[in-house]
Amino acid sequence: MKFAEQLCERTGFVYDPDAYLYYKEIDGYQFAMSFYSSQFYLMSCVCLDGAVPQAKQIKKDVKENDEVKKAIKDVSVQGYRTVYIIKPAFSQAKLIENICKAIRFVPAYYREKGYQNCCEYCGKVMDTGIYKFGNAARFLCDDDYRTMSEKVFTAMAEAEQVEGSVLAGSVGAFLGSLIGAAAIVLFGQLGFVSVLSGVIMGVCALRGYELLGKKMNVAGVIISCLIMVAMCYFANRLDWSIAVARALEWNIADAFMQCEDVCRYSEVIGSYYASLAQILLFTLLGALPQALSAIRTRKNETIVSVISAAKKGVEE
Ligand SMILES: [Zn+2]
Repeated sequence: MKFAEQLCERTGFVYDPDAYLYYKEIDGYQFAMSFYSSQFYLMSCVCLDGAVPQAKQIKKDVKENDEVKKAIKDVSVQGYRTVYIIKPAFSQAKLIENICKAIRFVPAYYREKGYQNCCEYCGKVMDTGIYKFGNAARFLCDDDYRTMSEKVFTAMAEAEQVEGSVLAGSVGAFLGSLIGAAAIVLFGQLGFVSVLSGVIMGVCALRGYELLGKKMNVAGVIISCLIMVAMCYFANRLDWSIAVARALEWNIADAFMQCEDVCRYSEVIGSYYASLAQILLFTLLGALPQALSAIRTRKNETIVSVISAAKKGVEE
């Protein structure tokens, strides 16, 4: 059985696979759990008589409890947010065992000490929901969820409204691709087609577009790619023209004009196109991760999702 299924079955938590988050309300306290850089965290938001939780006291109480001292590795408190780091284990079963111990201990401990469930932002004792902003889970009251998500949506809309300039972006991609072309010719003259020159071409052209155009989008990627292909062709032809000019003692301009004819007559046109294909392939290798990350980071930043909504104030 998968870890998530097994954990939910044992603990009664619900798993949200899109948010990589487990959540459940226990005895009036909202809890969320998740893996983060290979550690497992149990999170909640509580206050004690309106004040933030006392980290030292909680740590001490955890250490002195025989049942959980071996299941909880550490406790951290940031504002009202209280996070329990579950002790890692070699086996899934043992890790789940540790999680179960923590889940049994924490709500009972809160109840005993008089902690109350509260909003992470305003600290008011009330029903809270669990929401995901980017990669962070937040415990918020309905009002604060609305305010914060509105802020995010406004920021998104503003970013959306930044008028990207296709013309300026194209100039940027062109300037960037010149650097790439210089690298291709330079490496070509040194006698090899290099992955590095392709990567330089791919990265510089796309970064150039983003830098001057202010906004990268699918159109920007397409325009940059067209410019890259043209510049790869130009750079390869220039590279070969230099060789032709040397061999025939022509000037570069004449050699460039007649480069392909000369290659055809001297039966090296196959190698000419093969090196062009290689350059294009290497450029694709360089451009692809850059293009994907340019589009992907934008998506990640903007995700706001409701894991479980706050009950009070939701009905309208
Ligand atoms: Zn609040």
